[in-house]
Amino acid sequence: MKKFTYEDYKQLLQAFIDRGYTFVSFNELFREKTDLTVNIFHPIDVGLQFLPRMAQIDHEHKIRSTFHLSVVSRLYNLFSPQSQAVIQGLLNLNHHIGLHWDIESDISKEDQFSILGDLVRPFPLDGMTEHRPPSRQSPLGDITYFADSRGKWRYGHPLDSQEFKEGKQMGLAVHPFLYSEYKSERKITARMHSILATETWANMQLTLVKLCEEEREFQMESMVDINAGLSG
Ligand SMILES: [Zn+2]
Repeated sequence: MKKFTYEDYKQLLQAFIDRGYTFVSFNELFREKTDLTVNIFHPIDVGLQFLPRMAQIDHEHKIRSTFHLSVVSRLYNLFSPQSQAVIQGLLNLNHHIGLHWDIESDISKEDQFSILGDLVRPFPLDGMTEHRPPSRQSPLGDITYFADSRGKWRYGHPLDSQEFKEGKQMGLAVHPFLYSEYKSERKITARMHSILATETWANMQLTLVKLCEEEREFQMESMVDINAGLSG
C-alpha cells in the first residue's frame, strides 16, 4: 500500500473512508476545523492528461476532490480546447477547482486568481496553493499536511501517522502523474518538470536520450525474464 499506482491510491482512499473520514473541500478544511475531515487536493504541475483518470477514481469513491491548476504553466495551456474539455470533465464530476499559483510569473497572484476565476465561473475557486514555495512552510498552516511529492510521502505515509490513528483533520497533496502505470510517462513527466528549472534544450535532449536508453534496457531485461520463463 506504500507504492504509487492507481490501486494503491484506491486503497488509500478506502482506508480514509473506513476510518470514518468525511471528504471536504479545500476551503471547508479551513472553515470547519473538525476531526475526521480530509481534503484531497491535486496540485497540477505537469500535463492535464493525468486528470480524468484520477477524477474518475475520486468520483467512484464518492469523493469531491480539489484540483489546483496553473494559468501560467509552461507545461500546459489551460486555455486550449483540450484543457477546457478536461476542466469541464472535472466539474461534471462535481470536483472543485482552485489555483496553483506561481510566484515566478510576471502576472500577480491576484491576477492569476481572477483569470482562473473567470475561466470556471459560475463555480467558485476552491482555495489556492503556491507552486514551489520558497519556504518549507505547510500550505495548510497548522492543519496536518501530507504530500506525495517526487514519488515519496513527505512527512511519512499518512496511514502510518498518529494523526490518522486519532482521526485528526488533514490535507493530502496528491500529484496525479505519479500514479501513471507507464514507467516512461511518469519518468519523463518528472524530468520535464525538473528540467524547467534549468531550461536548456541541451539538458532536455540529454535527459530524453538517457530515458530512451533506460527504457530499452528495461525492455531487454523483461525479454530475458520472459525467455527464461518459457524455457524453465
Ligand atoms: Zn507545483
